[in-house]
Amino acid sequence: MLDLLLANGLVVTPSGATKLDIGIIGGTIISLSQPGSRTPDSARRVIDLRGQTVVPGGIDPHVHTNSVLPTAAESGIKCFGPDRVSEGAIYGGTTTLVDFAHWQPGDDLSDSFARKSAEWQGETFTDYALHGTFKEPEIPFEVLDQIPDAVANGHGSYKVWMTNTTPTRPKQKTDLGNIWGLMQQTASAGAMLAVHAEDDDIVMYAYKRLQSEGKTALPYMPDAHNKLSEQLSFQRVITLAAHVGAPIYLMHVSAREGVNAIREARGKGQPVYGEVLPHYAYFTQESYKRDDGAIYHTYPSLKSADDRDSMWESLLQGTLSTLATDGVCTDFDVKTRGKTILDATGGHAGVEMRMAVAYTEGVAKRGLDLTRFVDLTSANAAKILGIYPQKGVIAIGSDADLAVLDTNVDRAITSADLHEADYTPWEGYRVAAWPTMTILRGQVIVEDRKLKTGPQGELLKQHVSSDVRSRPAC
Ligand SMILES: [Zn+2]
Ligand SMILES: [Zn+2]
Repeated sequence: MLDLLLANGLVVTPSGATKLDIGIIGGTIISLSQPGSRTPDSARRVIDLRGQTVVPGGIDPHVHTNSVLPTAAESGIKCFGPDRVSEGAIYGGTTTLVDFAHWQPGDDLSDSFARKSAEWQGETFTDYALHGTFKEPEIPFEVLDQIPDAVANGHGSYKVWMTNTTPTRPKQKTDLGNIWGLMQQTASAGAMLAVHAEDDDIVMYAYKRLQSEGKTALPYMPDAHNKLSEQLSFQRVITLAAHVGAPIYLMHVSAREGVNAIREARGKGQPVYGEVLPHYAYFTQESYKRDDGAIYHTYPSLKSADDRDSMWESLLQGTLSTLATDGVCTDFDVKTRGKTILDATGGHAGVEMRMAVAYTEGVAKRGLDLTRFVDLTSANAAKILGIYPQKGVIAIGSDADLAVLDTNVDRAITSADLHEADYTPWEGYRVAAWPTMTILRGQVIVEDRKLKTGPQGELLKQHVSSDVRSRPAC
């Protein structure tokens, strides 16, 4: 007896989009069959998804929760927690979020993961994983030595910053020598290293010069977080990764120079993966001139129309691999509190509409194949971060994490319809897909735009495959 039979939907599997019935027992997909080949009485519940598109639940590999906003540090304001962010995610068809567990001096690495996981456990509507992060100039050798055990325990991804981002916020940059040491450890232990790559010298010099000229208004952001910085830092960290033989994941690619550096490395067979933020692939630096310009900002920065155009170009070509939000969810008044290049709050509320925007920009506007849509919104992140094929695919034996999309719509996004914040940068944007039902491990969590259960999310174990670690596999 099946627990759930999802009948007659257009189901997107790695081999294409076809009408299939999905049979679920417990939290797992146990059958994929021709519509009608299983009788309705073979299941406790049957849901007819005729006319709907069924894809693997989305995976957002880059969200922040409960972080003290660096530019609002004096006030101690934090962005929203896992409860609110995962609620937005699950309404939007995203079933896995990946947040950050910060190592603090004095921690054993396991302390850092346990502390952050405690914020998620019992609070989240999605499953979740955690990148271990280092925000110190130096990482002690005894902490580096703990990485193999942490990786064996399922903590398979880490992150570092190559810049302090602004001259005013608390330091977070790790020096290149320490990144080298970290990379040696993550590579030999079989983990992925994510990098916030900007050239700190270039960025800080640019800030000084802009400040001396009184050019600190928001539209100067791309002059501080500039294309040269992206080019130099990407080339530098890619060279380091080639030397070590390490797989890396470059977060929030923002310029054509970054895309080119990744393309060149992948052309040589290097396992380098790049992440695109949907709003970097849609808006440009022109948005900073608006009264509410701050709502479009995420560090590094929006750039020119040409840079913007390079994002979807490279997603379609397969140079870049994932669509993530870099979500830092707050309400409008907090998001717009900083109005200069020194204090603008990074990240924004974008988790809930990520899948719908990706469908609209990719499938509806550019003819992206549905299997490739799944790659960019779910499968590739699962592979790169080591949760595939448990997540990221509709296949027998995989978790029954599913997003049901109505792709017969043309409707405008408005924040009143959403759950993560009181504003959205996508206000008024027309989507060609709308999430109608979300299923996590076989449980219908959202149906008819209503939450059907409490928070049930679990921490995932990450084990990055040798294929993903040894070549540009997705
Ligand atoms: Zn970053
Ligand atoms: Zn981030």
